[in-house]
Amino acid sequence: MRPEMTNDKPYICMRCGRAFSKDDMEVLMGIRCPYCNYRIIMKARSPAAKRILSV
Ligand SMILES: [Zn+2]
Repeated sequence: MRPEMTNDKPYICMRCGRAFSKDDMEVLMGIRCPYCNYRIIMKARSPAAKRILSV
């Protein structure tokens, strides 16, 4: 069994739409986007999240 790459970054910033992993967030203080420091983060576990990334 191989882990899927899509599950590697289960979080998506609601501001810039970038995907990142939990480890990326833990670099900063609390839960924030590592790219724009936005604090509204969406969990993208569902396959539908791919549509948001492609926009
Ligand atoms: Zn962001």
